[in-house]
Amino acid sequence: TFSGHMLRTLDQSSKLKNVLYEIRGPVSARAAQLEQEGYRILKLNTGNPGVFNFEAPDVIMRDMIAALPHSQGYSESKGILSARRAVYTRYELEPDFPHLSVDDIFLGNGVSELITMVTQALIDNGDEILIPAPDYPLWTAATTLAGGNAVHYLCDEANDWNPDIADLESKITDRTKALVIINPNNPTGAVYSREVLEQMVELARKHSLLLLSDEIYDRILYDDARHISTASLAPDLLCLTFNGLSKTYRVAGYRAGWLAITGPQEHARGFIEGIELLAGTRLCPNVPAQHAIQVALGGYQSIDELIRPGGRLHTQRDIAFDMLNAMDGVSCVKAKAALYAFPRLDPNVHEIHDDQKFAYDLLERERILLTQGTGFNWPDPDHFRVVTLPDERTLTDALERLGNFLASYRQ
Ligand code: PLP
Repeated sequence: TFSGHMLRTLDQSSKLKNVLYEIRGPVSARAAQLEQEGYRILKLNTGNPGVFNFEAPDVIMRDMIAALPHSQGYSESKGILSARRAVYTRYELEPDFPHLSVDDIFLGNGVSELITMVTQALIDNGDEILIPAPDYPLWTAATTLAGGNAVHYLCDEANDWNPDIADLESKITDRTKALVIINPNNPTGAVYSREVLEQMVELARKHSLLLLSDEIYDRILYDDARHISTASLAPDLLCLTFNGLSKTYRVAGYRAGWLAITGPQEHARGFIEGIELLAGTRLCPNVPAQHAIQVALGGYQSIDELIRPGGRLHTQRDIAFDMLNAMDGVSCVKAKAALYAFPRLDPNVHEIHDDQKFAYDLLERERILLTQGTGFNWPDPDHFRVVTLPDERTLTDALERLGNFLASYRQ
């Protein structure tokens, strides 16, 4: 028998003290508990196409299966050459994208791993990174984990959620090292205008900031939206462009993403060697998923069928926009891209002081899981995000229930 010994209390490391990721946070833990108790929960919290009956293109799956026997070993740390060549070709075919080589491309287990690697390679304690509010919260979490200060610049809901350039400029200090641009944006669905992007790049130029551009939704565009890559406006600046297969090719579970480095590199050799070092320590990304990249990028782009008028994603975007705006005290900018709606609750109609509690209460009463606005580092408790992936019937039903819930909800 074991007796008489004490077990030391284990708390999480102090590094994690301010690291938050509410999309899979405590409200979603409560949802998992309810599911175990036998309740059916409609999960509108993650942009995960695979669980809403979106099928990945067949060729991608078949190619990955065929590659399994040849995927038993680790690959090169940066990723297999055929996949990096495919990414290289993708950018070479983009008219204004700066020239790059296969050596400037790193593959990762999703964009997520690359965000973590790059922030770790870049940030010293106290360095400041400019990140949009609202943001995809991994950028803030990874910056904080690396010891940096996430400084949030506001995006302007009244201006189609384009970044507020004056606010951005006012937040630049001597310690600012990088500017994160999420375009098209999660959670707002904004696609930034050329003018705004040019102003952002100009600020990066003036203050010698590294550009970190997350463009994972660049092919999920609605109506006449046109995406302009940050790198294409900044061939004279170091720019890291992040993208991957998760959304456009509906294979989020495969974990396949890439990073493309453009612009001058001499002044940043140390930083890039840091990324190489960390790419080596994680050995390599999941090898079967790397094989999926070439066929995905080279093959038929079936996403186009989903985003045009009449396509599933387009229809669902419209349903969310119409139904949310029809609710009393709710307004929503029409998403030009991506898979989300980020509506505003008018504080004169809906008095919500704690939006996490709002998400908990909605879950308990309606069995709908979504993420509150402050989970995207939005400063006020007056927004929430809805994932527009469920089919027409499911989405309509969920939004009807949300509307009824809001009509009587008080805090
Ligand atoms: N960046 C943005 C803006 C996202 O919305 C997501 C996922 O939702 C990611 C990055 C991470 O994607 P993945 O790690 O699947 O490539």
